[in-house]
Amino acid sequence: MSNKNSPPSKAKIVIISGPSGCGKTTLHKALLLSPLLKGKLVKSISATTRPKRPGEREGRDYLFLSTEIFEERIKKGYFLEWERVFDNYYGTPKQQALNLLKKGINVLLCIDVKGAKTVASEFPQALKIFIKAPSLKVLEVRLKARGSESRESLSLRLKVARKELKEAKHYDHVIINADLNRALEKLEQIVYHDLGIGPGF
Ligand code: 5GP
Repeated sequence: MSNKNSPPSKAKIVIISGPSGCGKTTLHKALLLSPLLKGKLVKSISATTRPKRPGEREGRDYLFLSTEIFEERIKKGYFLEWERVFDNYYGTPKQQALNLLKKGINVLLCIDVKGAKTVASEFPQALKIFIKAPSLKVLEVRLKARGSESRESLSLRLKVARKELKEAKHYDHVIINADLNRALEKLEQIVYHDLGIGPGF
């Protein structure tokens, strides 16, 4: 067990990926509310050039940047990884994540499969979790129900989902989100176990 005189535990990166509409946003938000993870796992706030959706807040959901500023920051090496996803830029600010790790706090990244590969090559100990909807049909229904996508964006997201699903085999764990509570339970178990949190640790 660690105390204030022992060195900080080796903090980890936890990566959650999965197709748009699989429920990963709901799941990761619920995960972060788990009492056992309080102060031990903090989400990295990504930057993006996509427009803000209703209800989203600057600095809480994303850092919303113009394409010009995002590209400038790419050049300056501001990102741990960045990708173009659905015709927009998305990236993980480097300093924020490194500072948390240095303090011994685990960092949660909710990023696409390409970004996950980049991070995993730099942090081979990262815990990689892939969330899936039970089927592509269910995914389509969920995306339509969300009502936030245009017809073009919806079909692009489904096309990308097919590609992303092929990457699930490279992850440490795959969770099928058929039932939100069960999926959350599974996610908590995996994260607690990997981070050595909870009874028995
Ligand atoms: P959305 O626009 O639905 O919020 O996110 C679209 C996709 O971008 C999701 O797959 C999400 O995981 C991914 N994404 C969000 N932030 C980042 C990031 O910082 N880096 C990468 N590579 N992907 C991200």
